Amino acid sequence: MVSTRPVLILLGPPGAGKGTQARMLEEDFGLVQLSTGDLLRAAVASGSPAGLAAKAVMEAGGLVSDEIVLAILADRMGQRDTAGGIILDGFPRTAAQAAALDVLLGKLGQKVTAAVSLEVDDAAMVDRVAGRFTCADCGEGYHDSFKQPAVAGTCDKCGGTAFKRRNDDNAETVRARLEAYHAQTAPLIAHYDRLGVLHRIDAMDSIAAIRGALSVIVNQVAA
Ligand code: AMP
Repeated sequence: MVSTRPVLILLGPPGAGKGTQARMLEEDFGLVQLSTGDLLRAAVASGSPAGLAAKAVMEAGGLVSDEIVLAILADRMGQRDTAGGIILDGFPRTAAQAAALDVLLGKLGQKVTAAVSLEVDDAAMVDRVAGRFTCADCGEGYHDSFKQPAVAGTCDKCGGTAFKRRNDDNAETVRARLEAYHAQTAPLIAHYDRLGVLHRIDAMDSIAAIRGALSVIVNQVAA
């Protein structure tokens, strides 16, 4: 295991753009996005015991148990393709997860390189999340109002023609997810501030502007 890989954390409520920006950081810096939401959705789809346990909680917009999330994440972090650096998207989400991450990294002689808080107006997030969909083949993100494919029904990036929407991207569940964020995840901003690795970005700005601001930070801390 490489001991100096950059470990970036993207913090922010649902709709802040964590997934979109993580994929751009993959392209720009060769880092690997680790989304616990994606890992959990894969577990649900596979019908594994962890997936079965997580399914109802995710559909209600609550948080899956730390035990399940940590097991899935530790497994993924140990895979070889992550050796060049990782972007944690949607993790940690609780104080216990943040503490467990510090321990996990500590055992590897690593630590969090930077935690970036994507700061948004909550009121706008329900519309942002409720209209979004992705290419079923490559995962490129789109939105009913803000970002349609250039040719209707065809992915700009890979030419795929199948799209999907998440079950939990409906207004009611988004509100529950926002509540979970404020109750359990937002306090982590202070945790990373205390560790001296916190950066804040105005994530109401354009996707391109946020990408630029993130690039400046990554170049500073991890280049
Ligand atoms: P996301 O794709 O990050 O929006 O996550 C979708 C859902 O997966 C969340 O609403 C939670 O139910 C669950 N989830 C994802 N990451 C975590 C985490 N770190 N801890 C607990 N639950 C999570």
